[in-house]
Amino acid sequence: MKKIALITSGGDAPGMNACIRAVVKSCLGKGIVPIGYSDGYTGMIENRFTNLVSDDVVNIIQRGGTILGTARNDEFKTKAGRAHAIKNLKSERIDGFICIGGDGSFRGASALSNEMNIPVIAIPGTIDNDIFGTERTIGFDTAMNTVVDAVDKIKDTAGSHHRIFLVEVMGRDAGFIALETAIASGAASVLIPEERSNIELLAKDLKSQNKRRSNSIVIVAEGDDAGGVKDIYEKLLPLLEGYTLRYSILGHVQRGGRPSAFDRILATRMGVYAVDLLLEGKSEVMIGSIGDSLHTLPISKTINNTAVPRLENLKVIKALKTVK
Ligand code: ADP
Repeated sequence: MKKIALITSGGDAPGMNACIRAVVKSCLGKGIVPIGYSDGYTGMIENRFTNLVSDDVVNIIQRGGTILGTARNDEFKTKAGRAHAIKNLKSERIDGFICIGGDGSFRGASALSNEMNIPVIAIPGTIDNDIFGTERTIGFDTAMNTVVDAVDKIKDTAGSHHRIFLVEVMGRDAGFIALETAIASGAASVLIPEERSNIELLAKDLKSQNKRRSNSIVIVAEGDDAGGVKDIYEKLLPLLEGYTLRYSILGHVQRGGRPSAFDRILATRMGVYAVDLLLEGKSEVMIGSIGDSLHTLPISKTINNTAVPRLENLKVIKALKTVK
């Protein structure tokens, strides 16, 4: 193992830089040359890369985003597209590949590994936490904290004006961010794609919790089956006469910012482990975290299964409903 290629791919997530730093420093310490391809698979196809050295990763542990850049690339989904990348990787004599990203990125990594016969290690990096086989993905903790901070602020104005606020959070098709932040921000209710939403019931529920028309927060996952937060707002309006309703879409602020200590530690441990796994001759595995331990599982298993949030937490939210 003399040269390892590294990419960040799919949506960026806070902590990706901490992971890049760990991979680079770990490689250099073991006499391996780390090559960082720019903008995910796009850089691989276009042969844009950097021989990463210590100076490249100085002072990046605390920075959000990814210094390598990231992208979505449809060409890489085709065998012909991947053939360009394979030609470039072969001419650089790359003999190992570490991919930091989400399940789409892992599908690409797996295809590349099969077609080129190169060992690959996948590291889950996405704020959505929607990866099977790991309790935590890099970036999720930071995104949750960003949401909680924003909701705390919204609660100040919601309380002052006696308003009900619907707050839409990210998460793609999964409700991890919504469910966890609903608990952490003391929300009255939460709508997630994993549970069928009933707007009439939500209206009844909000009324029973708001007899004095005080404030409430409802966290809405962007992928909820009842639609986006604006649709839900419009459906709720006629059902909540006499109440003042507002909605807010938190958007991309959730993707940025300084990674939390948790994400920095997770990312660093995963980065070091990925290099060790390549040196041990492992391939086509993803690193996951369960409790405080890291483990591996086949990439095929993670991409063929769906991660589900801890649904018993819905009961926690329901248990805390106060009838005023
Ligand atoms: P994420 O990795 O966060 O799930 P995407 O699903 O957008 O994000 O995937 C990132 C990139 O991975 C895609 O733009 C594409 O280049 C590559 N990719 C996704 N799915 C596949 C696939 N089935 N085969 C090959 N490459 C894929």
